[in-house]
Amino acid sequence: MTNQQNVVAVDVKSLGLRNLLPPVTKSLSPTELKMLFMKRFEAEKGDNKINGLVDSMRASSPTRIKSSSPSIVHHPSALSMLEQIVGASKGKQIVMFLDYDGTLSPIVEDPDQAFMSTEMRAAVRDVARYFPTAIVTGRCRDKVYSFVKLPGLYYAGSHGMDIKGPSKRCKNKKSNPGILFQPASEFLPMIDEVYKALVERTKSIGGAKVENNKFCVSVHFRRVDEKSWGALAEQVRSVLNQYPKLKLTQGRKVLEIRPTIKWDKGRALEFLLAALGYGNSNDVLPIYIGDDRTDEDAFKVLRDRGQGFGIIVSKVPKETNASYTLQEPSEVKEFLRRLVDWKKYAQGGGAAP
Ligand SMILES: [Mg+2]
Repeated sequence: MTNQQNVVAVDVKSLGLRNLLPPVTKSLSPTELKMLFMKRFEAEKGDNKINGLVDSMRASSPTRIKSSSPSIVHHPSALSMLEQIVGASKGKQIVMFLDYDGTLSPIVEDPDQAFMSTEMRAAVRDVARYFPTAIVTGRCRDKVYSFVKLPGLYYAGSHGMDIKGPSKRCKNKKSNPGILFQPASEFLPMIDEVYKALVERTKSIGGAKVENNKFCVSVHFRRVDEKSWGALAEQVRSVLNQYPKLKLTQGRKVLEIRPTIKWDKGRALEFLLAALGYGNSNDVLPIYIGDDRTDEDAFKVLRDRGQGFGIIVSKVPKETNASYTLQEPSEVKEFLRRLVDWKKYAQGGGAAP
């Protein structure tokens, strides 16, 4: 998003990640933090914002492929750039970050049916054997775990507001296998209340689905006639107006209500790198694969750090902070497989294939 909130974002960034992590969090007064976050929220609410969100959602959720505008940049395929990617990892630890919907699983009409294939699960399991791997998703952590079912991974649910480490395996002494970080836990009762209000207010709109993701509520537009998108967004706005501590964001055919704290997939990525002992290290190559606008926060963190690569999953060229593209989940699977093949070969004493 490009508006005056960028000014606020710079202020937030200047606080640094450490200021958002315990125990340093205690040194920041809640009033200071609230003032900062309220600035951002004020810039995001209002009728124009709702209209903008719906327009933006249309643009990022194409039902048909449109010709690309001159401002849209095409990025090379991560498959064709694999040699350069592994070349850049020399002497560094690759850490994998994977979005779920649209990255590991296809986008389907019913979000409860967004299962990943057995082959994809095998590819993710193999990658996690060689590289620390995290699933970073807007979904509730428990829900995404019920899809992925791999205990050796980090899971960052609710856009990184609910982070848990692997239930086994701990290579780095600095990492904590049971780590659980919930920067917005005080919002839990409010989120539950909003979920119930939204279920009530949207039940008259055909196809609308409200999902409680614990630290955020998702209102899915996937099965709603496009003519009713404005009406549905209006219902969401009317509920949200009663909750100034919550904000609205937009993804692929989804509006999401979240706490106003500056915490997103980019912050989750930074937190996880720090948890793995790579907070201020150059010996790491993070690779983040995602398909959504919310993944752009993570792509931007990688760009700003000058570390690693963002890979956007998309069949159409998009404006993005990612470096490379993969067209669809099947290409993600292929990329993960080739990365594992390279690592196996390299460990066996051979050169990268
Ligand atoms: Mg996604």
